Amino acid sequence: MSDIEIAQQATMQNISEIATQKLGLQVDDLDSYGRYKAKVSLRVMDDLATKPDGKLILVTAISPTPAGEGKTTTTIGLSDALNRIGKQATVCVREPSMGPCFGLKGGAAGGGYSQVVPMEDINLHFTGDFHAIAAAHNLLAAMIDNHIHHGNTLQLDTRKITWQRVVDMNDRALRQITIGMGGPANGFVREDSFDIVVASEVMAIFCLASSLSELKQRLGNILIGYSIDGTPRYASDLNAHGAMTALLKDAIKPNLVQTLENNPAFVHGGPFANIAHGCNSVIATKMALKLSDYVVTEAGFGADLGAEKFIDIKCRKAGIRPDLAVVVATVKALKYHGGVNVPDLAAENLTALEKGLTNLRKHLHNLQNEFGLECVVAINHFIQDTDAEIALIKEAVEAMGATAVLARHWAEGGAGAELLARTVVEKLEKPGKCELLYSDSATLWDKINAVAMRLYGANEVIADKKVLKKLGEFQSLHGDMPVCMAKTPYSFSSDPSLRGAPDQHTLTIRDVRLSRGAGFIVVLCGDVMTMPGLPKIPAAERIDIDDKGVISGLF
Ligand code: ADP
Ligand code: MG
Repeated sequence: MSDIEIAQQATMQNISEIATQKLGLQVDDLDSYGRYKAKVSLRVMDDLATKPDGKLILVTAISPTPAGEGKTTTTIGLSDALNRIGKQATVCVREPSMGPCFGLKGGAAGGGYSQVVPMEDINLHFTGDFHAIAAAHNLLAAMIDNHIHHGNTLQLDTRKITWQRVVDMNDRALRQITIGMGGPANGFVREDSFDIVVASEVMAIFCLASSLSELKQRLGNILIGYSIDGTPRYASDLNAHGAMTALLKDAIKPNLVQTLENNPAFVHGGPFANIAHGCNSVIATKMALKLSDYVVTEAGFGADLGAEKFIDIKCRKAGIRPDLAVVVATVKALKYHGGVNVPDLAAENLTALEKGLTNLRKHLHNLQNEFGLECVVAINHFIQDTDAEIALIKEAVEAMGATAVLARHWAEGGAGAELLARTVVEKLEKPGKCELLYSDSATLWDKINAVAMRLYGANEVIADKKVLKKLGEFQSLHGDMPVCMAKTPYSFSSDPSLRGAPDQHTLTIRDVRLSRGAGFIVVLCGDVMTMPGLPKIPAAERIDIDDKGVISGLF
């Protein structure tokens, strides 16, 4: 059965039952969006201010491969399994972006028997958060062009506007555009561009703010461009941040839905994992920590990017720390890292698996030694995996002082991940003490080097004079910010074709950018596509709806 068919057979409970029975919320705390989706009032956080937080479990993974790893699926399966063994657990994951749904990747609500539902709603529009974020973003863009039209008292240099426009669609025709055509009534002609909504700095800010007031302050801090004499100009110079925040007043409340096994799931916010930090909102995570004993959450890509940013950006800013990391690995993906190509991944190959284990070992080493995290490896079971292959992974992981557990949640739901859940609970009896990789006071250059050398295995970081000059300028004004590395997720190096765990490589910094509102410096180590295109035959061609309103073709 396909993911959508499994999801459509789910017996969902009314979301108010989940909220009251499983999270102890009151019906008055909810804004219901139909029967199965609700937003939870931020007031809850004031009421629970003195309640201690639950345990935070971060699901991360080996470097992604075309074979797929299943982080979201494992995050959901583990939470269902924890509930099955009598623990109170909640999932926190990102909201899917619509662009990829119609393109190549499909949805992002888990898979098999570990999914969040209603799957169609979550993947298409959901509660409208992304539209609200797009509106807030585009309001600022409109106010910039309006300001120029009406005399430009801020002396904005139209060649140096850094704020463009966004839409939640893969649309390559919008990558570079000209606006203001058609004469004096339509403003001034200038070049502009569109990004996909998940790449918006408003999205990153939305996901890092802990309150409405912090949201407003960060929105005001957004850099919009430079004046003719080179002075930076901010959203607050246009008095845009109040109205932008007003547009986000409902979006900022976490969305509550359920898993296939009727356990609570927060699905809220979804920033890009390259030019931003790639995890669900701080508000949802903090709320889940107040409402449950165990919170299982996911960070995008492999642990070199996802877990690093989760800890060094999200946790640093939110004042939270994970108590344990679950590292998802699959036999197939490890064989891919050992040099096997996609058509041959189904066949047993212990030599390639042993070779590919270098990737898992490096990620584990980083999490254990650089961050001080206790780790459990979840081997996400695929039907072709052999006993000998599973045994080899377990042996390698045990040799590193961690535990590997086979998990069959994709095929069996929470029941398939009970052993994983028990192992996690046992390890949490003596949790590790998670440390940030670098301190706020280290220089930006030292922060980049810390990530490159200690996590990526690089032996050198280089950047040309222009980039170093820009970094120097950021250092004097924003030297206390963390860095947000935009590197290929497919390799520890910046070359996506280098599998396994390449070391002694050189990391070249191509450019640096300031996300002043979000509060980090983006370090570009390669090309980053912020407006994807659709493939020749987009998934949209297969998506349909029948007379009864049943959707097909989503995956
Ligand atoms: P990630 O979060 O790492 O990107 P997902 O959990 O979204 O990965 O899974 C990606 C795809 O792989 C989904 O379509 C899911 O159904 C599929 N998948 C995950 N685990 C398995 C498995 N054990 N067997 C088969 N397919 C799986
Ligand atoms: Mg995922």
